[in-house]
Parts: sequence; structure tokens; C-alpha cells
Amino acid sequence: MIDFNVPPSTGKEPVYIAQAIANKKICGDGPFTKKCHRFLEEKTGAAAVYLTTSGTSALEMAAILSEIGPGDEVILPSYTFCSTADAFVARGARLVFVDIRPDTMNIDETKIEAAITDRTRVIAVVHYAGVSCEMDAIMEIARRHGLKVVEDAAQAVGSYYKGKALGTIGDFGCFSFHETKNYSMGEGGALLLPTLDKRDEAEICREKGTDRSRFFRGQGTKYTWADFGSSYLPSDINAAYLWAQLEMFDEIFNDRMKTWQTYDEALRPLREAGLIETQTIPEGCAHNAHMYYIKAKDLAERTALISHLKALGILAVFHYIPLHSSPAGLKFGRFAGEDVWTTRESERLLRLPLYYGITPEDTARVIEGVRSFYCH
Ligand SMILES: *Cc1c(COP(=O)(O)O)cnc(C)c1O
Repeated sequence: MIDFNVPPSTGKEPVYIAQAIANKKICGDGPFTKKCHRFLEEKTGAAAVYLTTSGTSALEMAAILSEIGPGDEVILPSYTFCSTADAFVARGARLVFVDIRPDTMNIDETKIEAAITDRTRVIAVVHYAGVSCEMDAIMEIARRHGLKVVEDAAQAVGSYYKGKALGTIGDFGCFSFHETKNYSMGEGGALLLPTLDKRDEAEICREKGTDRSRFFRGQGTKYTWADFGSSYLPSDINAAYLWAQLEMFDEIFNDRMKTWQTYDEALRPLREAGLIETQTIPEGCAHNAHMYYIKAKDLAERTALISHLKALGILAVFHYIPLHSSPAGLKFGRFAGEDVWTTRESERLLRLPLYYGITPEDTARVIEGVRSFYCH
């Protein structure tokens, strides 16, 4: 059986986890967490990076720091994982879903402005498959209307837009280190700040509402309950796992990219014959090979293709059911404008197995599986 995903591991994880235990500092913000922070700051150019317990909790922090309150509206794509929405619903926000572009499956920047009302506070963009949204246009709209931009960059660690790391372009960036993502700590994530303006607020929010981080930096003689917060910092044991991956950042990146390119080249003839569609990477976007997906003609063809692959021992999966048509989406939001692409494209998309360390033999079997479905 070729699995759809295998969680990344480099071999050093048990060594670093044992070290974290020997350090007698297994709570949050220990030595491994600090190493991860510095690495990610350097890699992305963010002014500050904070590990969190999940990508979802990084999004929750972004919603809190955006000062979202009951009745405020948040614009987001309907084609995303529900965490993008949950974080804002937790603050009492109403969701306003906007259609996607069929080429990247990202929010259609030309349809955002029509969805803005006097209650809109935030535009939450999702860089699907690690491919950037049109950030120049989106930032321009946000600045003109006085809105904050939250980047759900859960899938976009190591991706760039016109040379800028994703997660550092808007007001807040959110990474995920879930086991299905390019770099993992089991469950985990990170909040990225483009400047230090919100540093104190972010640290207070992450540390149960205390100003402990300032105190430990020596900026204050005591620490106290300063504002509303929660516990968003992960154990240093988890950070030790992540460190083993970050240390081999490029190797993991290159390995995934090689598989991505192998799929893309091998499936080109099917695309050129008009049998499938493959991914579009727009000018100026450098992606991270988070995902390789193809698009079948329609839902029926995709269902048949999944069964065909399964019979060959290959697990290919689809996602997401558009949020606006899910029970929670109906309860918490509305679709602004017309759903031209969201539902239609979501029914055609199929993700092929792609993970760090997938063998060339397995990749070749997947390619052959797709080919044999279309050419018989
Ligand atoms: C994975 C993912 C999340 C959630 O991340 P977790 O670490 O699982 O909480 C949020 N948004 C998107 C687009 C994701 O792919």
C-alpha cells in the first residue's frame, strides 16, 4: 500500500527529545523552542516567530491580536480547512466567504472588495498548496479599507511571493507543523510577526495573559496578569522533534520538490491531451512542494479514479467540502457573490501521495496508476 502521507522524520528526533528531557526544561520556551524561533526568524525574515501548540492556535492568536469581536466580519475563502474559520468564530465573528480562482484554488483577489462592509475587520487568506495568493493586490485593498490581513500559511512553510516569505507579508502569519505538513512536531504551529509592534501583546496572549516574557528579558521587576490570554506554547519535547527537521530544512524541501517535479513532468502528456489539469504556479510564486494535485473532469470521474488507484494499492485523497455548504459554515457565515468555482473545482481535485522520503519506485507506481486510468 502506498500511503497518502507519512509523517516526516530525519532520525535525529529521539536524540533531541532525550536531550530535552536531560535539560530538565520540558515546558515551553526551552532551548529547543528558542533554536526553532531563531531558525524560523532567519529563514523567513519575520521580526518574531513563536511556536504554538497547533496551526489552529496560531490562527486563534492572530484573531485575538486582530481584536476581533462579536459581530465583526472576516473575509475568507470557502475552500479551506475549517481552522481558518474556527479561530474567528471563537471571537464571535461572522464569516464572509469569497470565491476562489480556479488556477490556484486561492481566494479570488478581484472579488474581495465587493464583500467588504462597514463591519469587515480582517481578510484571512489561505496560501493553498503552498502557492501564494496575490498579496500585492490583497494588501492594497486591506490598507485602503483599514483592514488587517491574516495569512493562513499552514501549508506554506518555505514558500515565497516576489521574494518575501509567506507568513511575513500580512499583519500576522500562521504556520502549521502538524504531521501532514512539510515540517512537523506532531501537533504544532507558529505565529509570525512582520514587525515588533505587536510583540508584547503576542507574548502576553501566548503565556496565559502574563507579561512573563518581558520579565524574563529583564524589562520589568515582576510579572503579572496583564491581559486576556491562553496557553499556546508547546512543550520543548515537541520543539526538539521539530528541530531535527528544521536542521535538515533544505534536504526535506529538495526531496519533496524532486517528487513534485517528477509527477509534473510525467503527467504533462495527460494534461496536454486535455485529460486532466495540473497545478498552476503563477509568476512570482516560489512554492514548497507541499502538495501535488490533479483535477479530473468532474466528481464522477474523480470517484472512479480514486477507486482505480485504491485497487492498485495507492491512497489518493481529496479535500475540502466547501465551508459555506457545511453545517457550521451555514450557521456562522454567508457566501458573498456567486460560487462560480469553489464547489465545482473542489469536486474535481485529487491529491497524490507526496511526503518526505517517498521512493522513486512508489512515485512511478502512482504515475502509472493515473496513466492506466486515462489510457486504456
Ligand atoms: C493544517 C492546516 C491548518 C491547521 O493546522 P493544525 O496545525 O492542524 O491546527 C489550518 N489551515 C490550513 C489551510 C491547513 O492546511
